[in-house]
Amino acid sequence: MRINKGDQVLVLIGRNSGKKSRVVSVDKENGKVTVEGVNVVHKHVRRSRRNPQGGRLSMEMPIPISNVKIICPSCSKPTRVGARFDGDGTKYRICKKCNANISIIAPPKKHVTK
Ligand SMILES: [Zn+2]
Repeated sequence: MRINKGDQVLVLIGRNSGKKSRVVSVDKENGKVTVEGVNVVHKHVRRSRRNPQGGRLSMEMPIPISNVKIICPSCSKPTRVGARFDGDGTKYRICKKCNANISIIAPPKKHVTK
């Protein structure tokens, strides 16, 4: 699953199932993503110097990457992501539904000279 920060995703499982939102961060090591407004927990914070108001602090908790599906910016449907190499070696993420490029994964390969 190729999901990047800033991607629009559809949440498939859990409390926020069916919600469309934006990926705030990706934790590739643990296979988790944090999605804006999804899986929000409220922490009760005591008044302190750092937080003079106290009260409730809401923050998003990461969810498993398999619980979300990327939304294609081109056909705006939840889709699977493929990869494609262009003629010059540029690697793209593509939508498996409409074949549109979603974003560039890697620039064209260049010969490295030292
Ligand atoms: Zn598409």
